[in-house]
Amino acid sequence: MSNLIKSLFAFAAFGFLFTSCSEEINSNIEISEGVIQQLEEMGFNPEGIEKIEEGYLIERDIVITDEFLQNHGPETNVPNVEQYSTNNLVSTNGSRNITMYADEGRRGYSPAMIAGLDEAIRRFNAENLEITFSRITNKRAADIEMTRLSKRDERRGVLGSAGFPTAGGDPYGEIKMSGILESSYGLSTDGIATIIAHEMGHCIGFRHTDYFDRSISCGGATSNEGSGGVGANHIPGTPTGASLNAASWMLSCTDGSDRPFNNDDQTALDFLY
Ligand SMILES: [Zn+2]
Repeated sequence: MSNLIKSLFAFAAFGFLFTSCSEEINSNIEISEGVIQQLEEMGFNPEGIEKIEEGYLIERDIVITDEFLQNHGPETNVPNVEQYSTNNLVSTNGSRNITMYADEGRRGYSPAMIAGLDEAIRRFNAENLEITFSRITNKRAADIEMTRLSKRDERRGVLGSAGFPTAGGDPYGEIKMSGILESSYGLSTDGIATIIAHEMGHCIGFRHTDYFDRSISCGGATSNEGSGGVGANHIPGTPTGASLNAASWMLSCTDGSDRPFNNDDQTALDFLY
């Protein structure tokens, strides 16, 4: 029993909840057979798909919008090597700054969460990529807004969620983060930064490093997330296979510890941007 494993989505805020959480997800599904079939045909693993406000939540922390579903067909290619991107990436035209906003007000995020966001931004910017991030205090001008998960999702152990870039080349516009990573889980600034950086990774087109077999980081049975209509393109220069020891920041599940970009992560970031 892995009492250290936390999924970036729902599984296991605490080890003892590992099985009961998955049961809860299944019992809460309000999704038509047609949609499940379509997601399956697109290559997604239908297990654990959940209806949310914006559309559907798959792979525990990735948002597929209704609009996206209507515009994408089946895809079959499912490789099994490390580091993948979606078909849609953020267009940079040589350089692009992505602005981020998080509410610091009374009902917003704690200083620890803001520090985590700033550290995540620092990590990306230290890679000298064609994209940079900056945090701004004008919500309306932000490319990505960090919003708070619902209390219900926070309580059942969701840590964060995000989506993939748009067909127009913009990053996904919202990261939902738990506001209790410090207070309930005791995560350090670096641990919080790792989770926020993971969700930022989805927003710019990264899939899970171990998407072809979530059990590498999540434990349990072998489980392929599927290529989906979003694509799962192997990023050249990254190795075959994935391992928990390599501790990629884009592994499906986290133990809440710090995962700064490893060499392969840096290769992948540098290739895409
Ligand atoms: Zn993820």
